[in-house]
Amino acid sequence: MAVPATSRDALSNLDFDFTISEEGNRKNLLKQIDFLPLEGYFPLFTRKRRTQTRKVSLEHKIIPFETHQIPTEKIDTHALYILEKLAAAGFVAYLVGGGVRDLLLNHRPKDFDISTSAKPEEIKSLFRNCLLIGRRFRLAHIRFGKKVFEVSTFRAGDPETEELILRDNQWGYPEEDALRRDFTINGLFYDPSNQTIIDYVNGYEDIKKKYLRTIGQPYVRFKQDPVRMLRLLKFQARFNLNVDPASHIALVECREEIVKSAPARVLEEMLRMLESGAATPFIQLLSQHGMLAHILPEVAHFIEKEKSGTEIYEYLHEVDTIFKDPESENLERPVLLGSFAYPLLQQRMQKHFIDREKIPHLGQIQSHVGDLIGEIFDGFFRVPRRLKVSLNNILMGQYRLTPLHKKRVQRRRVPRDSEFHLALKFLNLRSCLEPGLKIVHDEWQELYSRHPREDPSPKRRPRKRRRTRKS
Ligand code: ATP
Ligand code: MG
Repeated sequence: MAVPATSRDALSNLDFDFTISEEGNRKNLLKQIDFLPLEGYFPLFTRKRRTQTRKVSLEHKIIPFETHQIPTEKIDTHALYILEKLAAAGFVAYLVGGGVRDLLLNHRPKDFDISTSAKPEEIKSLFRNCLLIGRRFRLAHIRFGKKVFEVSTFRAGDPETEELILRDNQWGYPEEDALRRDFTINGLFYDPSNQTIIDYVNGYEDIKKKYLRTIGQPYVRFKQDPVRMLRLLKFQARFNLNVDPASHIALVECREEIVKSAPARVLEEMLRMLESGAATPFIQLLSQHGMLAHILPEVAHFIEKEKSGTEIYEYLHEVDTIFKDPESENLERPVLLGSFAYPLLQQRMQKHFIDREKIPHLGQIQSHVGDLIGEIFDGFFRVPRRLKVSLNNILMGQYRLTPLHKKRVQRRRVPRDSEFHLALKFLNLRSCLEPGLKIVHDEWQELYSRHPREDPSPKRRPRKRRRTRKS
């Protein structure tokens, strides 16, 4: 089988001031590939580097359209436009990672990521709607309305070293880029010019077998970037995959390393999972593997040790139902965090007040809410202030909407809180677990819909007139 003409031509145009890995590293890297050439594999490109010619012996498989049958209509037209424009400018450009995986698993891709031989500045010069971002991982964001496409330059990585990766900006070749990815199911390239899938990592077969394994040695790959362990459990939860035993053992051995990762990345993966429709199995897996205790110790303790701990799963189950339903309005991130915090808060209210037959006033509740948010979300898992303020309003809102005292409220008033609608959304979630609350929610919702909304844009203070001194 021949190398696709467009890819080959574009590869011969590669700019050789790329920083590429040393020969030694490269050999090690190639040693990682333990599958033998199969039918349909062919030797990779021959490249010139200054005076010497080097042959890269990495084999790969080409999967034709007749086999994979990904319909082009399922690929976002803007993604195809970006790919075509890059190819027309002489660069190699493939659809990569999660987009290809999701299409093969018959899921609707959340995003379409693109990898190319063009360097960030070259990408920027081709697209007006392009912004270069990231320090650890420099890439281009190309925007079409609300949609943002990530376009990254092919990178090299060193799959042998156990050192934590702090930067990942070493440009490389497509095969190196495939090998630096996390799991075989995420290492496939789709070439739109001939509708083929290029497979350097045996990912196609793994997808068909629903088998999840790291690319390279799992122990090393988790040490390099512990967030990959979270990602393993994320894919297991989302697609119900069988996990390779070696990857599983390595995860158990390396789980404590998760605290070495950048908290913002961990937070992002966690929030994405809460929005995925598979939050319940994900948190269950995190707990079973002893990882939750490192990320959210308060929540882990509550789930694993307390009788009412399962309530968190009941909330997450409702959250999953909402995200799986394409008709439902999605929940905002602070509302999602409420699923962790509210059951814990209720337990405290029970212990400190209800069991002692006391009714707390709002000031006392606020003090517990503040402490609890700090305890849960100020450890390793540092939630940004903006999210914590919203969560605080949501939790306080619950005690305004459904006060602990059972006195009849004469006249309900919608509070002057710009995030009141979020508190209402959380009350709606509570009403799924406690159907008696449905009527309370509906009454508040009705009141809120009649309530004049405040203009969300902050009012400008009138400028102070400068006094002119009379002399
Ligand atoms: P999702 O559906 O949640 O977006 P994804 O696999 O597409 O899942 P992204 O964060 O969008 O995840 O990453 C895109 C691709 O980048 C992945 O499919 C994978 O090939 C690669 N990747 C992401 N994170 C890592 C990592 N920590 N280490 C190695 N490769 C990674
Ligand atoms: Mg993605």
